[in-house]
Amino acid sequence: MSASEQNNLSEIIEEQLPGDIFHFIQHAGDTANSLQQRIYLVGGVVRDLLLERINLDIDLVVEGDAIKLAQAINSEGRAQLVTHPRFGTAKLKWGHRSVDFATARAESYAHPGALPTIHPGTINDDLKRRDFAINAMAVELNPRHFGELIDPFDGCGDLNRQHIRVLHEKSFVDDATRIWRALRYEQRLDFTIEPATRLLLKRDIVYLKTISGDRIRHELELVLREEQPEKALCRAFELDVLTTLHPALKGDSWLIEAFKAARVRCLPDLPHPDFYLALLCYRLTANHLEQLIQYLRPAKTTTQVLQDTIAIKEKTKELKSRRLAPSEVYEILNGYHPVAYAVNAIAAGASAADYIELYLNVLRNVKPALTGEALKKLGVKQGPRIKEVLSKLRHARLDGKITTKKQEEEWVAKRHSS
Ligand code: ATP
Repeated sequence: MSASEQNNLSEIIEEQLPGDIFHFIQHAGDTANSLQQRIYLVGGVVRDLLLERINLDIDLVVEGDAIKLAQAINSEGRAQLVTHPRFGTAKLKWGHRSVDFATARAESYAHPGALPTIHPGTINDDLKRRDFAINAMAVELNPRHFGELIDPFDGCGDLNRQHIRVLHEKSFVDDATRIWRALRYEQRLDFTIEPATRLLLKRDIVYLKTISGDRIRHELELVLREEQPEKALCRAFELDVLTTLHPALKGDSWLIEAFKAARVRCLPDLPHPDFYLALLCYRLTANHLEQLIQYLRPAKTTTQVLQDTIAIKEKTKELKSRRLAPSEVYEILNGYHPVAYAVNAIAAGASAADYIELYLNVLRNVKPALTGEALKKLGVKQGPRIKEVLSKLRHARLDGKITTKKQEEEWVAKRHSS
């Protein structure tokens, strides 16, 4: 049955959601009824129920008071309740499950890029403020209407047409982060951005400037958490969106191959978003990278990964220039973030990648048998001298000049006791 033929989703809900969640939402509907409130399943989960995609991010919207309702649902205190009275939202968590409650609201925007002003509203107001028709559907959970689909913008029709469509002409002006969201859904679902929406998107790319770097970074992170983030990044490049992050960024066949290689390298896990971001930034110069960091203000470790990636890239030029002793390779490559090595192993040319693998698999694990304490006992002066001797011993081991503890002791006795 196609999505547009569904008016009551109760069977689909029962079939597709895990039993405990199904019983939870039934209980939520009963409790709302007893409090004379109305409660709805909304957003991504409704879209994904109709697409038969697994989605356990349960978002509920309440006509009434979401916090009071969440408290009443949890009257026996079996779940953990977290509330945000300022936003009229609540979260219930139990085991590995969690469900979000929000009070239905209407929104208005003071100016493009501003965070919206919020007023209490109806379910229709709440759907009207959403990004795309496929995300602007709700399912009622109160008993007499359980499972009834509310679809004021023909989201079902869009699911059948496989379209991403905004709800009104000023949608991207109000909130240009929706541009990134459109690309993400289009590529995740293998849909297309509907032609009129695409024109609006192109027209409104300039409004991405009205959005803070923090919010853009959040959207980019969501892209990088997709199964194949390169698809949305390449589409963003094609539509001149990627270059709003930095004009030197590219979404092309190089990026596609690099992201695929990252997935193979990280098996059985998925690459961390920092890994992907560093690959995306790999072809930037150090200066360009600093500009991007200033704009997006990533977390400290992410910044470290990005800067180390470019630093190693610069150093791989030395690796390619001549044959190097293992101790020289060690010194060139030592001291960077682990992800930055992995990124370079994928992105640098074959010979540099061989050196990086050698460093990762062998050289970085080579250590002298003697410790600082042992050196002191052998008469090496305390302080910086110890570090120096340990480093020389490591080099001698790396280059095969020393292979046993006894040889280390002899070497120290000969040159470094004082
Ligand atoms: P995903 O499957 O990626 O988790 P989701 O649809 O659950 O997607 P969320 O980012 O969790 O998306 O947001 C929940 C819902 O809130 C969306 O389905 C959408 O209706 C609405 N929404 C989120 N961000 C925006 C936005 N910038 N503008 C309008 N509506 C939004």
